[in-house]
Amino acid sequence: MILGCGPAGMTAAIYAARKRIDIVMVSEDAGGQVATTFGIENYPGFQYVTGPELVDKFRSQMGQFDIEQYLGEKITRLSRQDGLFVAQTASGKEHAARACIIATGARPRQLGVTGENKYRGKGVSYCATCDAPLFADATVAVVGGGNSALSAAFELSRIASKVYLVSRREWRADEAPLIENVKAASNIETIIGYVAEAIAGEEVVKGITIKSFPKGDEYKSLTVDGVFVEIGLLSNSDFARGLVRMNERGEIMVDCDTWTGVPGLFAAGDVTNVKDKQIVIACGQGAVAVMSAFEYLLRRR
Ligand SMILES: Cc1cc2nc3c(=O)[nH]c(=O)nc-3n(C[C@H](O)[C@H](O)[C@H](O)COP(=O)(O)OP(=O)(O)OC[C@H]3O[C@@H](n4cnc5c(N)ncnc54)[C@H](O)[C@@H]3O)c2cc1C
Repeated sequence: MILGCGPAGMTAAIYAARKRIDIVMVSEDAGGQVATTFGIENYPGFQYVTGPELVDKFRSQMGQFDIEQYLGEKITRLSRQDGLFVAQTASGKEHAARACIIATGARPRQLGVTGENKYRGKGVSYCATCDAPLFADATVAVVGGGNSALSAAFELSRIASKVYLVSRREWRADEAPLIENVKAASNIETIIGYVAEAIAGEEVVKGITIKSFPKGDEYKSLTVDGVFVEIGLLSNSDFARGLVRMNERGEIMVDCDTWTGVPGLFAAGDVTNVKDKQIVIACGQGAVAVMSAFEYLLRRR
């Protein structure tokens, strides 16, 4: 059973189908985070591909095989009953299998401000590694004050002409090299003690309003072409709580074979504690998870 149809889940499905393993895939959507990504420039084999195009490629490769798929189904609970993994869905269905790969990914923590959803992919980005090159010579704001925000600000400072780094409090990031890099970059303007209030634009982002924190009595309007939200990721792992070991961020702990420590249960991609969250990494883990599950099934036969 493969839970999730993002890069990790789709790769797992292709590998499993080629190994003639009987699989059932259950997922809320097809494509995961990639389906909402504007442009991808770091997936090998493609100099540039849009997210939806890449998802189509994955899906058409999956389409060669007869894979039982239940899309539009949100898993609400995963448990182990009589040696089987049982996934319950919000619609009241149950799917069971002897081995299970959790590939339900993550979602970026959102600011929750006006304009954020409207301009997602039109100037609002949640991934500097992915989207920074699209902002050459532009002015951007990065919101956040942790390692990912500082790293994003520095990455962007090498491409954009001006970067505002907005954080609600003093940075909580590694001194070297992150804080040192940010301080040394002449085109980064840091604004500490402010939070995002609203993102505005026309077709695409044109500016961000920020307000003082915690008082909220002072506002600033910044004219920007892009807003990078770097306030962390939320793992889509709630349904597996109690069954599997997670870290404090809710990421499922796996070893290098993607094994969770529960016999027959594997996890791949952004839902795991893998340090970097990228498509090619999720795909790689999806493939590894099938190899591990295959070996597990053979031994238990
Ligand atoms: C805006 C943006 C741009 C990005 N750009 C790039 C880029 O250019 N290059 C790059 O390498 N990476 C990029 N990334 C990161 C990349 O998208 C992720 O690393 C990758 O998608 C992770 O794949 P995954 O399969 O682990 O998870 P996801 O893509 O998150 O897929 C998870 C799947 O599980 C399903 N699911 C989740 N919860 C449930 C549930 N409870 N029940 C049923 N199904 C569920 C989802 O519907 C989805 O199908 C970007 C991310 C974002 C947000």
